Amino acid sequence: MNKFSIAIHGGAGTLVKGMMTPEKETAYKQALQKALDAGYAILKNGGTAVKAVETAVKSLEDSHLFNAGKGAVFTATETHEMDASIMDGKNLEAGAVSLISGIKNPISLARDVMEKSEHVFLAGEGAMQFAKENDYQLENPEYFYDELRHQQWLNIKDTDNFQLDHSAKKDSKFGTVGAVACDKNGNIAAATSTGGMTNKRYGRVGDSPMIGAGNYANNKTCAVSCIGSGEFFIRGVVAYDVSCLMEYKGLSLKEASEEVINKRILEIGGDGGLIAVDAQGNISMPFNTEGMYRGIKTSEGENLVLIYQ
Ligand code: ASP
Repeated sequence: MNKFSIAIHGGAGTLVKGMMTPEKETAYKQALQKALDAGYAILKNGGTAVKAVETAVKSLEDSHLFNAGKGAVFTATETHEMDASIMDGKNLEAGAVSLISGIKNPISLARDVMEKSEHVFLAGEGAMQFAKENDYQLENPEYFYDELRHQQWLNIKDTDNFQLDHSAKKDSKFGTVGAVACDKNGNIAAATSTGGMTNKRYGRVGDSPMIGAGNYANNKTCAVSCIGSGEFFIRGVVAYDVSCLMEYKGLSLKEASEEVINKRILEIGGDGGLIAVDAQGNISMPFNTEGMYRGIKTSEGENLVLIYQ
């Protein structure tokens, strides 16, 4: 039997240790562990990598602590616009949604795009129409209301500023969530979900729903979910770049992911991180920020939930 494993992330950036209260730290760690356990249970019971990453991301979307689903940040017009994508490394099938509102679990809608439509990427009103036709119920705006997120938005509303989910030092804490997994059959998958940036306008879309930029999976190489400054991750085609370094240059998962995060993305000015898995169940989680909420759980008994370097 193949080693099976799952990794998740829930935000990266200047997570300054002193600014975090013990209570908050515990809450984050508990939410991460819950998501890890949920995804791992699917793998343990013989479920697919796709199901495992969807399940873990749904758990993170249901927590107000992360910038995805329930905890999504506010747009310039005080609404929530969410993006998500999922990819199956076994057959390169993928699904993505962007600029959607009121959907409790955007990652499930992305999976439905992959499995129930002829398309890969649906956005805005059309994506909402697809959700309705697939019997999604819409949550009220109150479901997505969070005092902290609202305050973050109030601080910059009516300005031209837009910013990544907050940190104490500068506007560089990213709260996107994601999961990558390798199942018992050696199939891998990646899922990513986000509320994007506070006070975003003009239908801004980041890397998270873009296959190849924020999310990618291919059994031949790796499954990757990214977190960070989306504009740079799009230009760096980060997730696919990791895969390409493995496929064309023969780098290992660790070498390829570290090369991209610690060198190539930095060279163009991007900060953030990624989680990645290969079809042997190996995991790599590099980031070039001070911290990244992350966790791994494997069939070899590893179970880690970490925040700082
Ligand atoms: N990458 C996301 C975006 O640009 C932000 C994040 O990682 O929090 O939309």
